[in-house]
Amino acid sequence: MKDEDISAIQELLSTPQKVVIIPHRSPDGDAMGSTLGLYHFLKQLNHDAVVIAPNEFPEFLAWLPSSDTVLVYEKEKEKTAGIILNADLVFTLDFNAFHRTGEMEHVLKKVTAPIIMIDHHQKPDDYAKYMFSDTKYGSTCEMLYHFIVDLGYKNLIDKTVATCIYTGIVTDSGSFRFPSTTSTTHRVVADLIDIGIENGAVHNSLFDNDSYDRLRLLGQALQNMKILYDKKTSYITLSQKELDENNYVKGDTEGIVNYGLSIKGIVFTAIFIEHREENIIKISFRSQGNFDVNQFARTHFSGGGHINAAGGKSYLSMKDTVAKFEEILAQTTIN
Ligand code: 5GP
Ligand code: MN
Repeated sequence: MKDEDISAIQELLSTPQKVVIIPHRSPDGDAMGSTLGLYHFLKQLNHDAVVIAPNEFPEFLAWLPSSDTVLVYEKEKEKTAGIILNADLVFTLDFNAFHRTGEMEHVLKKVTAPIIMIDHHQKPDDYAKYMFSDTKYGSTCEMLYHFIVDLGYKNLIDKTVATCIYTGIVTDSGSFRFPSTTSTTHRVVADLIDIGIENGAVHNSLFDNDSYDRLRLLGQALQNMKILYDKKTSYITLSQKELDENNYVKGDTEGIVNYGLSIKGIVFTAIFIEHREENIIKISFRSQGNFDVNQFARTHFSGGGHINAAGGKSYLSMKDTVAKFEEILAQTTIN
């Protein structure tokens, strides 16, 4: 972040403000970790802060400190829109385009208070007065750590803030295995451990809390996996019926996409998940190496993301969506 922006934000935060903090729709570990981490930091500076999520966050993140204070726009539209438009300062974390908040987009367009963006996705929209946007970071949570340090408040990264930050670093880096994990990431985490986070316990909360239903859903997903060896590609489908049969709850499909990449020789994978209520197929893409799934998602499936992890959607049926995917693949070179 530019020095003059840091000074301006220090000035803004020097007196108590009404601050609204917003993650993207269907928030993941990085979105919830960064928004709640910022919330706990701002509370120590006596700001009147609140996290407003566009929709419900997944159950597997409900252990995050103060997640019970998070308001949900889609549950209380009028009340939360009022709070957003009445704020002195708005933070948008882990996304860089208003449409990533779904319907909340229409409220955000009306915000006149200064907006601060902290985000690591490509191609940021031009809505923020202050932007800390950099694709070289593996997570928004890692950026939040540097943001707080740059503001001169390293001493306020206590165990609670550190636990939130650690959560986003772990989830967005696939537990430190994605190439976006740098030596700096590990230095930041070393400091978080020195501050007192219980990293083993965080891992348990995140990854060792599976339900029997979720494991059965994973089994179904693996059964459904198709491999296109000549394209070094695999993909998984999950229909609404299969989700229902396994008592799907939000968050149950988190991480399943990665199994498609774990097969020898596969460098590109996708998971197609039917959401009958919204009438869409939600798609996640993952790749290893140079194949740019952000570009692929943007060009063909109204989405975006990063070079090795992106998402998108399709308004066709599952059958037609998969057919479209295979047709595009037939014309795509994957090395
Ligand atoms: P996931 O597959 O885990 O939902 O998302 C992978 C990455 O792609 C995340 O960084 C996420 O923010 C981004 N992403 C997922 N879905 C969409 C989408 O529909 N549009 C855009 N622009 N980005 C997406
Ligand atoms: Mn992220």
